Amino acid sequence: MSRKGLKDFLHLFYPYPDVFHRSFAARVTGMPRRREWRRVKVCEIFTSIQGESTYTGLACTFVRLTGCNLRCVYCDTQYAFEGGIDMPLDDIVSHVKLVGVNLVEITGGEPLLQGNDTILLVRALLEEGFEVLVETNGSLGVGGVDRRAVLILDVKTPSSGMSGEINYANFDYLKPSDEVKFVICDRGDYDWAKDIVAKFRLMERAKVLFSPALGMLPPRQLAKWIVEDRLEVRLNVQIHKYIFGPDERGV
Ligand code: SF4
Repeated sequence: MSRKGLKDFLHLFYPYPDVFHRSFAARVTGMPRRREWRRVKVCEIFTSIQGESTYTGLACTFVRLTGCNLRCVYCDTQYAFEGGIDMPLDDIVSHVKLVGVNLVEITGGEPLLQGNDTILLVRALLEEGFEVLVETNGSLGVGGVDRRAVLILDVKTPSSGMSGEINYANFDYLKPSDEVKFVICDRGDYDWAKDIVAKFRLMERAKVLFSPALGMLPPRQLAKWIVEDRLEVRLNVQIHKYIFGPDERGV
């Protein structure tokens, strides 16, 4: 079959045969693939108000990647576990540029599950001048994430059912601009989170946020505990759920 014939044939199954050829060649030869050939599986991209973290209230473009290695009991993004579309990194960057919002969050699912491709996406966005947040469930190593990005490390409390998956070595990579979030479902979670904050001196390493699990712990109760204990953590409610409703997607 001629080269053109092969290309036409491949095009029936794959819309980017040139990219396929180069990517295949890179795999065979062991050459590193160039960024423009890299892709990640994307669940959704949308722009809304940032509802969590210390960036709460700011307009933000969210790039939600497909797939998660955990199964938290209260997960509100199960739709991100599967599906999605493969998108070249450059297409994502172009889309985010078109939107024109400076703050971008890479989230999931678990974004670091897509390994080096996610790391390259973060870097590409930073190089375009965006402020980049990377929200991760903290079970995978964060050492490869560009230090210019802000890490939001979601430390899984016992009520999530996933606290056994925490990669505590990640705390060593924290910098003052990063954030550590605990979703608190009950008093047991609260006491556990307090112990983790003290044991790993998290207040000295990053910003620490306690967030009440919606429908499981009233924010008023968590606020009371924080004030009683004179904790210097920040109470963080998911304001997008109050604004748009708990089940609204893409907000
Ligand atoms: S880590 Fe996040 S996306 Fe994954 S199961 Fe837990 S809450 Fe859901």
